[in-house]
Amino acid sequence: SLYNQVQDLKGAIRVYCRVRPFLPGQSNGQSTVDYIGDNGNIMIMNPHKQGKDARRVFSFNKVFATSTTQEQIYADTQPLVRSALDGYNVCIFAYGQTGSGKTYTMSGPDLMTEETWGVNYRALRDLFHISKERADAIKYEVGVQMIEIYNEQVRDLLVSDGSNRRLDIRNNSQLNGLNVPDASLVPVNCTQDVLDLMKIGQKNRAVGATALNERSSRSHSVLTVHVRGRDLVSNSILKGCLHLVDLAGSERVDKSEAVGERLKEAQHINKSLSALGDVISALAQKSPHIPYRNSKLTQVLQDSLGGHAKTLMFVHINPEVNALGETISTLKFAERVA
Ligand code: ADP
Ligand code: MG
Repeated sequence: SLYNQVQDLKGAIRVYCRVRPFLPGQSNGQSTVDYIGDNGNIMIMNPHKQGKDARRVFSFNKVFATSTTQEQIYADTQPLVRSALDGYNVCIFAYGQTGSGKTYTMSGPDLMTEETWGVNYRALRDLFHISKERADAIKYEVGVQMIEIYNEQVRDLLVSDGSNRRLDIRNNSQLNGLNVPDASLVPVNCTQDVLDLMKIGQKNRAVGATALNERSSRSHSVLTVHVRGRDLVSNSILKGCLHLVDLAGSERVDKSEAVGERLKEAQHINKSLSALGDVISALAQKSPHIPYRNSKLTQVLQDSLGGHAKTLMFVHINPEVNALGETISTLKFAERVA
């Protein structure tokens, strides 16, 4: 049953790998993905090499082939999402180089229909749906925050006045996932509320950026869904939260080419993604010391990583041959946290 699945996931870190299809106009010729097994294996092939050096297998909880729909992706994400209604803290990450499909998985394509809705919208629709189903027993309230972490500074994406204030992070387990208490927390009741908010968030994200895509590939965006449920019989309160994180692009920047702002951005991204990898792999190894303090990202998510929290990482692969180097380093990162 669904609840058994949720039990299975308790405390575990899951890694799902998703392979992006070739886009219209891209050569549909050679793919670096040689083979996808149904047991979570993916075989990567280097077309420039021969023999046993040409192929390498990586193993994850699941690997999704290019034909996988948004609905199928969500079906395998749903148990984690729903556990937020049972009082768990949950983190879902999208990792990968720029252009590999992170935003597609979390939000969807630029021109969206309900069919291409990503995990964010489906998760909220699902939470509203389940909270209605349980309305006789539990009264749920749902609120969302949306922040951006850019150059190790936290900004509120839901301010209506476009103010550019830097926000502080508090780490206090009493906060229950509300670690950026000064970021706007907006109550939502239906998916339309969420769609409207996302538009504000996208608009605020573009402020000061030459192109939205550029900025969004160099910052982390964190959509946090806070859930509060009151049991109508016992009056007890449960709190859970769900962090939906579209990470900055993981591509390595050539240090000899990047200068000024670009170099600074690259260093911040590098630092925070390795800090995230260090935290998740320390948790996976049950290490006594978890290095949360090394980045703003891990500080913001601190009480939702580890303990009873649940974590899912989507790693994204661009199948083009010229992306092979980044594909291998993405898969190595994922292997380390799995
Ligand atoms: P990222 O956020 O990692 O930079 P995007 O999500 O913006 O990458 O994806 C890059 C392009 O590929 C976009 O045009 C997006 O719509 C398209 N794309 C990504 N994943 C898929 C997919 N699974 N199916 C169809 N198109 C996709
Ligand atoms: Mg993106």
